[in-house]
Amino acid sequence: LPTVIIVIGMAGSGKTTYVGALYNYLKKECKKKVYAINLDPAVKHLHYTANIDIRDSIKYHEVMKQYKLGPNGAIMTCLNLFATRFDKVIEILEKRKNKLNYIIVDTPGQIEVFNWSASGNIILETLSVSFPVVINYIVDTVRCERPITFMSNMLYACSVLYKTRLPFLACFNKIDVIKHDKCIEWMKNYDTFSDDVLNDESYMASFSRSCALMINEFYEGIKTIGVSSKTNEGFNNILKKLEYLKEEFIIDYVSIIDKQM
Ligand code: GDP
Ligand code: MG
Repeated sequence: LPTVIIVIGMAGSGKTTYVGALYNYLKKECKKKVYAINLDPAVKHLHYTANIDIRDSIKYHEVMKQYKLGPNGAIMTCLNLFATRFDKVIEILEKRKNKLNYIIVDTPGQIEVFNWSASGNIILETLSVSFPVVINYIVDTVRCERPITFMSNMLYACSVLYKTRLPFLACFNKIDVIKHDKCIEWMKNYDTFSDDVLNDESYMASFSRSCALMINEFYEGIKTIGVSSKTNEGFNNILKKLEYLKEEFIIDYVSIIDKQM
């Protein structure tokens, strides 16, 4: 079965660029059969050719006009409309599943639209009934320079993990601009993080100490990788991680089925 990779992250973190880079890398360097699905109705330009594109069937600007909606409401409505027909997408994927290795899914710019919506839920659940599904959470490493923004990004990542309960890879993107070494150090050694918070902004210190236990458990449960979607740096480690996540899905999913029997 092909692995479905859900690409999710804050607006501007580089999801669409990452999907394009991963699509080309898996296809050209790894000789894998890859399928790409775009779920962002408002995107103007894609760095890849989407095999299934929400924009083919749902016109963002018309939805905006017809329902008198602002940008976010319109994106949400488009996704809702698309979710009602998602069985058609599954049908297409089912037909091609023996010929595919990976299905990459690009999600709308604003993370809430997918993570906290009924349609996002429906799409995730429908996919995970048919295929192993894994999350690639894209982190803007440039915005993780300060311990506080790093922590708020990790807390959001944490909420995505607990919301979806799917195998999780945190992709520190844009390492061509700034390396993710500091982030890894903060994840491995909480004392270093605590010291750096204290030096940066002391009022956060007690809050960050209270977070330590929870966030450490989160760090232990996930995989990480540093990549640049611009230069392809770091992609040579990704295949191993994706395979690991797929195994994780299969083991956990089988255990859920066992419990229900
Ligand atoms: P999305 O909203 O998460 O889909 O983000 P986009 O893929 O549209 O990217 C947002 C901005 O980040 C764009 O200007 C991209 O060119 C830039 N970007 C994405 N990935 C990288 C990267 O690896 N390195 C650098 N330097 N810029 C990147
Ligand atoms: Mg995008």
